[in-house]
Amino acid sequence: MSGTGKERWVTETLYEADGFTCAFRADKMLYEENTAEQHLVIFENRLFGRMMALDGITQVTERDEFIYHEMMTHVPILAHGKVRRTLIIGGGDGGILREVARHKAVEKITMVEIDPAVTEFAKRHMPQVSAGAFDDPRLDLVFADGAKFVEEAGESYDVIIVDSTDPIGPGEVLFREEFYRAAKARLAPGGVIVTQNGVPFMQGAELASTVGKFRRLFRVATCYMATIPTYVGGPMAMGWGTDDESLIAVAPEVLAKRFAEVDFPARYYTPDVHKAAFALPRYVLDLVENA
Ligand code: SAM
Repeated sequence: MSGTGKERWVTETLYEADGFTCAFRADKMLYEENTAEQHLVIFENRLFGRMMALDGITQVTERDEFIYHEMMTHVPILAHGKVRRTLIIGGGDGGILREVARHKAVEKITMVEIDPAVTEFAKRHMPQVSAGAFDDPRLDLVFADGAKFVEEAGESYDVIIVDSTDPIGPGEVLFREEFYRAAKARLAPGGVIVTQNGVPFMQGAELASTVGKFRRLFRVATCYMATIPTYVGGPMAMGWGTDDESLIAVAPEVLAKRFAEVDFPARYYTPDVHKAAFALPRYVLDLVENA
């Protein structure tokens, strides 16, 4: 936190060690706490609206969260086509939950979030992100370490969405091979796992590490991309791991039919954007093909 007496600025810490940072002016400080897991701050910024940062790393902003939450959710669910049971790891702000809940054919939504404070204060100070989804009767909300949760024997899921922080602090375990292996064991046949994998132009090693591990675990290991303005440094990658080769090859007209059937508004997702998201630029292909 920095600034003159009258202004306060919240500084992005993710790339400080590399000599880069950016800052968001906190026009109104809404909440700040050192929870049992991490530093949590929620504030208002004129350009991006209400924002949350965890350990100084931007997590979600009112203005651009729809991009990330739609792409992390509708791409795996519409590619799969018959999702009934979903698992969200992390996702404390409720944005992924909101988008999963739009799919009325989904029967069960299990969400495993390590830090109750994130959910409590996101509901209170950023209620538009979850938009009431925490009251969805299909939700089973578990406050636990996602890495431990998947280690336990239990039900299987058609889609697992790892909406984690970056591999720092409590999120670090969600980038380990043992987590991915245990998560795979919780995938139903034909299931798919997607992961928050950062901005490859800035965090290429993180993406290569995840895809390399996926390559050892799944028949299909790659990523897809979308640009979220407040995840600075260019388009971000969403890891994709599955044993079902057909999921990445679903025809645009099939995606369009499925999207029409679910019949809800989207502000970023379209079936064409879905297909195009898997067309990776050369520098990202170099990261994932040699992972
Ligand atoms: N969209 C954000 C991004 O792309 O960085 C992530 C949003 S969400 C706030 C990340 C969530 O992961 C946080 O609520 C955090 O508490 C949770 N989290 C971190 N480590 C976790 C773990 N080991 N198990 C479960 N949840 C975890």
